[in-house]
Amino acid sequence: MKNRLAVALALALGLTAPLFAADKAATAAPAAAKADMSHNPFAKPSTLPFQYPAFDKIKNEHFVPAMEAGMTEQRAEMDAIADAKDAPTFDNTIVAMEKSGQLLNRATTVFFNLSGANTNDDIEKIQAEMAPKLSAHQDAIALNAKLFARIQALYDKRDTLGLDAEGKRLIERYYTDFVRAGAKLNDADKTKLKEMNAELASLQTQFSQNLLKENNASAIVVDSKDELKGLSDAAIAGAAEAAKQRKLEGKYVIALQNTSGQPALAQLENRAVRERLQKASVNRASHGGDFDTRAIVAKVAKLRAERAALLGYENHAAYTLEDETAKTVKAVNDRLAQLAPPAVANAKKEAAELQAMIDKEKGGFQLAPWDWSFYAEKVRAEKYSFDQNQLRPYFELDNVLKNGVFFAANKLYGISFKERKDLPVYNPDVRVFDVTDANGKPLAIFLVDYYARDNKRGGAWMNEYVSQSGLFGTHPVVANHLNIPKPPKGEPTLLSFDEVNTAFHEFGHALHGMFSNVKYPRFSGTSVPRDFVEYPSQVNEMWATWPEVLKNYAKHYKTGEAIPQELVDKVLAAEKFNQGFATTEYLGAALLDQSWHQIKASQAPEAAGVLDFEAAALKKAGVDFAPVPPRYRSAYFSHIMGGYAAGYYAYIWSEVLDADSVEWFKENGGLQRKNGDHFRQTLLSRGGSEDAMQLFKDFRGRDPDVKPLLERRGLTAK
Ligand SMILES: [Zn+2]
Repeated sequence: MKNRLAVALALALGLTAPLFAADKAATAAPAAAKADMSHNPFAKPSTLPFQYPAFDKIKNEHFVPAMEAGMTEQRAEMDAIADAKDAPTFDNTIVAMEKSGQLLNRATTVFFNLSGANTNDDIEKIQAEMAPKLSAHQDAIALNAKLFARIQALYDKRDTLGLDAEGKRLIERYYTDFVRAGAKLNDADKTKLKEMNAELASLQTQFSQNLLKENNASAIVVDSKDELKGLSDAAIAGAAEAAKQRKLEGKYVIALQNTSGQPALAQLENRAVRERLQKASVNRASHGGDFDTRAIVAKVAKLRAERAALLGYENHAAYTLEDETAKTVKAVNDRLAQLAPPAVANAKKEAAELQAMIDKEKGGFQLAPWDWSFYAEKVRAEKYSFDQNQLRPYFELDNVLKNGVFFAANKLYGISFKERKDLPVYNPDVRVFDVTDANGKPLAIFLVDYYARDNKRGGAWMNEYVSQSGLFGTHPVVANHLNIPKPPKGEPTLLSFDEVNTAFHEFGHALHGMFSNVKYPRFSGTSVPRDFVEYPSQVNEMWATWPEVLKNYAKHYKTGEAIPQELVDKVLAAEKFNQGFATTEYLGAALLDQSWHQIKASQAPEAAGVLDFEAAALKKAGVDFAPVPPRYRSAYFSHIMGGYAAGYYAYIWSEVLDADSVEWFKENGGLQRKNGDHFRQTLLSRGGSEDAMQLFKDFRGRDPDVKPLLERRGLTAK
C-alpha cells in the first residue's frame, strides 16, 4: 500500500490529489490563539541531513500551532497569487503555487505519518479537531475563483508558453485538480461542497480511530496454553507477552491483523479457538458497541454519492476512475467480471480438496471459513511436502532486509545502504539507513518501521517525510511500515513468506520515491494514478523468490546454512497453490468497494442495512462463496474509507502491468544492472511527470498484455 500522507485527509476523501497539502479554515484563527512559532521545530526546514524530521524535538503540542500557522501562511501566499496585478505567468502562478504551503506541508507530513505509525490520545484528538479545518483550508484554495481564473488563462494558452513537457503537464494537472475539486461550481454549490468535504473529513477520522480501538478490543483472550496447540513456541510466548501488557497475566492474547483472515488460523489445531478468532475478525466493528463503524460507512457512501452528483458525475466511482488509468466504471467492471468466475471456480476446486482432507481425517464437519488456512497448510504439506513454518527459520528479519531486499536493489540499481544511529527516531524500533547511489552520491534516507504495535494501524505501507524535487533541491526521506509481531526479548524475528513478500513490495514503493528525478513536487515519486502506483511495488516482489536473491538471504538463523534447493523448488512450485482463495477474497473486497461507490445517494443503506448491502453486493457479483469471505468487510475496510475509495481494484489492475514487466525482466536476463537501470530511467525516476501508461510503454516497448497475469493466477480457461 502506498500512503500519501501529507494530504492524507483530503485525499482520503478521494476528492482530488492536489499537492498543496491541505488547507486552512475559511475563518481565521482568533488572534489570541496565535501561538508563538519561534521554538516550534516545524517553523523552519529541519537542519538534519536531507531535512530529516527532528523527531527528538517534535512534541504533540507543536502540531496544532504549526498547522494553524501553516494554513495562515499558505492562505496568504495563495491570496497574493490570486490578487496579483500582473498578468498570470507560469512562474507567478503555477510555480508560485508549487512553492506555497511549505510550513503546512512539513507539519502535516510528520503528523499524518505518525498518526498512522505511532499514534496516541493527543494525536487522535488533534486529528479529530484538525480534519475538518484542513479540509476547509483545501477547499478555500481549490474554490478560489480568482486563482482558478489565472490557472484557466494559462491552461488555455499552454501550448504557446514555451514550456518543457513537465511544465506544460504541470499546468494541465493544476487545471484538472481544480476542476475536479469543484472550481467550476456556482457559489451555492461550492458552499454545499465545502460542507460535505468537512463532514467527510470528520467521518473518516472517526472511522480510523474507531477501528484502531476496535482492533485492540477484539483481540481474543485464551485461557490455557493447551488451546494454542499448533502455534510455535515463539508465537505462544508472544501471546503470553501480549496478555501481560494488557494486565492479563497467565493468559494469552491473539491480536488481530487488519485482514479478514488471521495468520494464526493456519496453525491453531483447536477448531473452537479458530472459530472464535475468525468471528472476532469478520464481525469487527459491526456487532454494536462503542466502536461500531456501520453508521459511518453508510454515511460516507451516501455523502460521496451526493458529492459526485454535485460535481456532475453518475457516482463516486465514475468521478474517481476518470482520473485513473482505468478511466471508466465500465473498464473496471469488465475487468473484475472477467476475473471473478474463474477465480471462484478455482476456489471451489480448492475447497473440495480441503474437504477431502477433512473427511480423510474423519473430521466430520463442513469446511468453514476458519478451517481454510489450517487445511490449506495440510494440503500444501501433502502436495508440496512443506509447510510455511519450515520456512521461517530461513527468513530472519535482518537477513531478509540486508541480504535480500537491499541485496536485490544493489544488484539491479547499484545502490547501497548503511545503517546510521545518530538520527532521532519516534520509536526505538525504527531503523534508519543512508542510501548511496551507484555513482557514490547520497541518494535518500530510508526508515524501516517493521514491528506491530498497539498504536500503529494495521497492514503495510510506504510514506515519505520529504519528497524529491528539483525545484526545492530536496532528496527523498522514505519510510516502510510493516506489522510483524515482535518476538520476546532475545528471540530472533522470523518472518512468514507473506511478510517477506510484503517487505519486498513496500520497498518497491520506496524505490519509486527514492529514484524520483523530477522538477516539480506535484510529480514527485509515487504521485501517479492510484491504479498505477501499486505496479512498481508489485514488480519488486519478483526478487523475493529470484534464485540468486533467495539464496543470498534465506539462511538458517542458527546455522547460517542456505535454504536447501529442494525446499526452494517446493516454494516455487507451490506459488500457484491457494490462488483461487487469494484471488476470490481479493475480488470480493474489490467488488464490494465498487458496489459502495457505484450507487446513487438514494440507494445508500442505513447503518442497520450495511451488512445486507454487503451480502447483496457479493451475491450479485457472484463472489458470495461462504468459505472465502472478502479480504476486508465493509466495517473494517480502511482502504476504501481512505484514499483507495473506488480504487481497491487497483491492485489487480496494476498486476497486469506487473506480470507483464516480470516477463520483460525474465526475457532480458533478470537480475542485472542494465535491466534495473532501464526500469529506473524509463519509469521509476519519472514519477507523475508523464502519462502513466506512456511510461509503461517506454519501459516495455508496447502496450500491456493481460496474459501473464491470467497465467500467474491460474485464471486461463481450461
Ligand atoms: Zn503497495
